[in-house]
Amino acid sequence: MITERKVYNFGAGPSALPQEVFAEAAQAVKNYQSSGLSILEISHRSNLFMDIMLEAETLIRSLMQIPDHYEVLFLQGGGSQQFAMIPLNLLPDDKTAYYIDSGIWAKKAFEESETIGRSAILVSSEKNSYNSIPKEFSVPQDAAYLHLTTNNTIYGTQWFNAPKINCPLIADASSDILCQEINVADYDLIYAGAQKNLGTAGVTVVIIKKDLLGRSKRVIPKIFDYQQHAKAKSLYNTPATYAIYVMLLTLRWIKKMGGVSEIEKLNRQKAALLYNEIDSNPLYKGHAVLEDRSLMNVVFQMTNPEMEKKFLKAAELFDIIGIQGHRSFGGFRVSLYNAIPLGHVEHLVSLMNQFREESVQ
Ligand code: PMP
Repeated sequence: MITERKVYNFGAGPSALPQEVFAEAAQAVKNYQSSGLSILEISHRSNLFMDIMLEAETLIRSLMQIPDHYEVLFLQGGGSQQFAMIPLNLLPDDKTAYYIDSGIWAKKAFEESETIGRSAILVSSEKNSYNSIPKEFSVPQDAAYLHLTTNNTIYGTQWFNAPKINCPLIADASSDILCQEINVADYDLIYAGAQKNLGTAGVTVVIIKKDLLGRSKRVIPKIFDYQQHAKAKSLYNTPATYAIYVMLLTLRWIKKMGGVSEIEKLNRQKAALLYNEIDSNPLYKGHAVLEDRSLMNVVFQMTNPEMEKKFLKAAELFDIIGIQGHRSFGGFRVSLYNAIPLGHVEHLVSLMNQFREESVQ
């Protein structure tokens, strides 16, 4: 039975999923497809699980229109493990890995790469408190690859067009995968932890051009080698079976919603509603510059910071949670991932409005 959600969860991840995904995932824990087995106890080599893997891969391929010359891997270790796997696999000694520093996660990816090989920040928006995407740059000749973060979860900025460059382009899409239509062929590798737009924590999707596999000139542990995982069809070691199942349910839901184009429309509607309130209500001010405003994480402050505590209290009374800004930055961050219904944003906006009326009385 699908029950009405009681709390409005705008948390940045792990985050809200569609109610029907919760209901089906719960049922599968009790008895998966009337098999008499819990999804938690089925072997990763069983036919039951093979079907889950196959459908999940087929669905993500069709939803994102992933060309055949890309491999889709379901790995573990989160986005953070990818920060290391990328240079381990793709950064030879005689080249440099370039990073666009658009926020803390971008910088963490760079810092991990530095431990492995020659790495450099090409351009950064740190001086402006990461309120924009740095787009003015040219990539030097010795680039092994350029790494960017398509959505900056903490600062609320997002890329809407992939830059055209002459070296492999790598994208951390942890906080915006499947939120808008993209051309996968613009990238050479896209990765994303599942816990925001794709399901629950535990599985990381890696979409990698096949000709990048096996190119590592380093001696690396097999467990970090993309080629090993590709050869083993993501079963090199025990995969995150339950997380992959929840991802499958989430992908089915996206398909049922009309696919990525419909989800994008909805995401644009939700974001417009909230940004409009921030722009028209003098109590609030947005962080990101207009053209780089994220559809996924809306970051704002109160014009009078002393009112922030009061606003948070009022939000609690409205059963709204997860809107406090990242601990490194403060203010507010409202995450509008795919599963957040428009009605939840309307609820938040009505609080913001009401708060304004009360504060002028
Ligand atoms: N990249 C981005 C853009 C993120 O938002 C996060 C986590 N919020 C990460 C990477 C790190 O992911 P994980 O915790 O799965 O390693």
